[in-house]
Amino acid sequence: MNVKDPRQIVAAKRDGRSLDDAEVEAFIEGYTDGSITDALASAFLMACLIRGLDAGETLALTRALIASGDTVRFEGLGVPTVDKHSTGGVADGVTLVFAPLAAALGMAVAKLSGRGLGHTGGTLDKLESIPGLRTDRSPEEMRRQVAEIGCAVGAQSPTLVPADGMLYALRDATATVPSIPLIAASVMSKKLAVETDLILLDVKAGSGAFMKTVPDALSLAEACRDLARGWGREARIAVTDMDQPLGDAVGNALDIVEAVQVLRGEHRGRLRDLVVAFAERGAQVTLGRDPEVAAAEAERALDDGTALERFRLMVEAQGGDPKVVDDPSGTLPAAPVVVPIEAVEVGTITAIATEDIGLASGMLGAGRIRKADVIDPAVGIVVHCKIGDRLEAGQPIGSVHARSHDDARDAVERVLGALSLGEGPVSVPALVHTWLE
Ligand code: URA
Repeated sequence: MNVKDPRQIVAAKRDGRSLDDAEVEAFIEGYTDGSITDALASAFLMACLIRGLDAGETLALTRALIASGDTVRFEGLGVPTVDKHSTGGVADGVTLVFAPLAAALGMAVAKLSGRGLGHTGGTLDKLESIPGLRTDRSPEEMRRQVAEIGCAVGAQSPTLVPADGMLYALRDATATVPSIPLIAASVMSKKLAVETDLILLDVKAGSGAFMKTVPDALSLAEACRDLARGWGREARIAVTDMDQPLGDAVGNALDIVEAVQVLRGEHRGRLRDLVVAFAERGAQVTLGRDPEVAAAEAERALDDGTALERFRLMVEAQGGDPKVVDDPSGTLPAAPVVVPIEAVEVGTITAIATEDIGLASGMLGAGRIRKADVIDPAVGIVVHCKIGDRLEAGQPIGSVHARSHDDARDAVERVLGALSLGEGPVSVPALVHTWLE
């Protein structure tokens, strides 16, 4: 087929035809060089979402995304390199803690992260709430930083997987996120462009994830694993629970406060447990550690401040204010209105509409509705309760951080509306459903 008119490619996908490698490459190239407009690319994405992409098309898309920029190699560091990525969740601050923790344990973490997408938060947006911190690292800066301090978290830049950066923002703004092949290609293009010894992937399943069920999350995990295998890369992929916020903070600066608390050993719970699970798996695969020893080392590095010191170095190396480690609340932007959330009824939490909490935070300004929207780093929601917790009427369960009292009132209502209460036994979702390799 003649691929000169990109509308034909969109029409082919719209009509359910499988695209060949040249068509996929031509489309991605055209979008990256500006000859294909956002309008046509939006139609392409919607056609892909509705019609799906087969394994060959997903491979071609991933290859085209990678080919839009440079690849980064980490050689001669003397320690194994690890990349870690989540498919997106609510209160998912794992990377913020994992990167410095893994560095403290003797691995080197080089990570290209994304921005908030749909109702989910983005590691870059969270990190950029630290005054001065820059995530636009060049490949050389990433390499140098990883060699010096063991961890770096950067953005896709004009030189690193730029096509994914552009498409990612467009998908967020056009309701075309929840597609297994689009997510697999997006996630894996960033992982495959950075040549590390191990890729750790966290595929989220549940009401706060793009994949609402464990079987769908498993399909996404398998698609990612197949791409890793196609590139001959070592990967371990966990399908983990997103039927409730992982941590407590759903915003940007608020997530940094929580991450610092975990790194100080002050905050326990599912966020810390998942970070430790990833650190354990990473150390097992790359350092040959016994899993129990690796878990104990990870717990110790969180409790004795070793991981926190790596976080300080990472913040400093990326231009951020290192005081965030000693006084996070005094260093980060704060919202003018802080309103407590109090339970209105008695009962046990049986379910949490987690996406609604992510959306409520987005509506406060912590997320994007349009591609060009600017995040408000200070606003967001903190919810301390989890599935299985017993609530009493009037019990404080969190807070809303907002620009106005009206915004705060709306968000409190949304959070309370997201909690289902009942009586009787409640089954708490497992934190990790399964691991694939
Ligand atoms: N994370 C990514 O990097 N891409 C997606 O599409 C979803 C989550």
